[in-house]
Amino acid sequence: MMGFVKGLKCRECGKAYPKEPLHVCSFCFGPLEVDYDYDKIKKVLTRKVIESRGKTMWRYRELLPIDGEPTVGAQVGFTPLIKANNLAKVLGVEELYVKNDSVNYPTFSFKDRVVSTALTKAKEFGYKTVGCATTGNLGNAVAAQAVQAGLESYIIMPADLEQGKIIGTLIYGTNVIKIKGNYDNVNKLCSEIADKYGWAIVNVNLRPYYGEGSKTYGYEIMEQLGWKVPRHIIVPMAGGSLITKIEKSIKEFAKLGLIDTADTKLHGAQATGSSPITTAVKAETDIIKPVKPKTIAQSIAIGNPADGFYSVKTINVSGGWAEDATDDELVEGIKLLARTEGIFTETAGGVTVAVTKKLIEQGKIPRNESIVISVTGNGLKTQEAVLNKLEIPKIINPSLAEFDAIMEEKMSAVH
Ligand SMILES: *Cc1c(COP(=O)(O)O)cnc(C)c1O
Ligand SMILES: [Zn+2]
Repeated sequence: MMGFVKGLKCRECGKAYPKEPLHVCSFCFGPLEVDYDYDKIKKVLTRKVIESRGKTMWRYRELLPIDGEPTVGAQVGFTPLIKANNLAKVLGVEELYVKNDSVNYPTFSFKDRVVSTALTKAKEFGYKTVGCATTGNLGNAVAAQAVQAGLESYIIMPADLEQGKIIGTLIYGTNVIKIKGNYDNVNKLCSEIADKYGWAIVNVNLRPYYGEGSKTYGYEIMEQLGWKVPRHIIVPMAGGSLITKIEKSIKEFAKLGLIDTADTKLHGAQATGSSPITTAVKAETDIIKPVKPKTIAQSIAIGNPADGFYSVKTINVSGGWAEDATDDELVEGIKLLARTEGIFTETAGGVTVAVTKKLIEQGKIPRNESIVISVTGNGLKTQEAVLNKLEIPKIINPSLAEFDAIMEEKMSAVH
């Protein structure tokens, strides 16, 4: 297979660039985006061709920015889309689904998608060392997949991340550097590192290629719904890339004739303590005011979102809305999903569930329209969030009499 990528294109002024590790326009400083030859893709990529391929994100490979075959993360993606009838009942809606990337391979978040794309591209470019600025999940995915790819890796993170995220990076024998500061400080440092050391920092100088991997989350939702879009998708936002790439996935499928209608409203979700994007949407402005994040939802705690402006635009153009959830509300969201659908999501997923509930209550999402909740990460990585919010189990001796006593107490509590 040869590539279907024409090159890169500035999102602002439209200036074309070659397929190189570039990410900003040298004329207007706008972000660069991958530009495809859709006429050529349309000739080869049909529903039938896609359905005949392996159940991974690479079944859509003509729409991914690689020239050869995928060399990293060949098993990533095609995670379950669950019909969430129990949760639907609690929320009082008719048709609800959960797109469950908490079971993505190999590191249990949607970041496996962007990393397999970015590292395949990094190898095509000939890089030997890769890295990232991370709020947690990206570091897990880069470290794990760099091992598989035979690349050296450097993971730069804020010093105070959850234990599960830190151990889930260190275990792969990567180089971890903790920064005294928040993600926005880490990100700035990583730009300087990319320039000075010439490494492929996946979400900095490979950002145009990296972001394209997120589109597969959207492609899968549409295919799994029987080549249809849902009316609503609720998406957690950190840098704001995922929500814009889901929008792009829908537009592309419409352009290629793989779906008939593309009338999805995209709704954004943030934690109240780190909500520059939802604040802008609610204030009906596209000016993002950076904040200093203060929330337990660390994976989406970005105070100065790289794609903030574009996510506001995506939400507005689609006719969607945005809301945020407090730390208490997100913990309730985590528990609600676990106790209705048996899915243990992380803090970002708790935010998304809580925001979905709000948007339904506000009437922004009508109860009789189809809804997809984006669950993007796994709860076992953020156990601190719920550690002290759960029932404390009784401890007894291994004696039937003591067990009987518990059952008697339980029975009398019911009556
Ligand atoms: C990174 C991340 C997001 C948000 O991603 P952006 O594309 O930066 O908006 C959402 N959920 C989880 C679990 C993440 O790790
Ligand atoms: Zn430009």
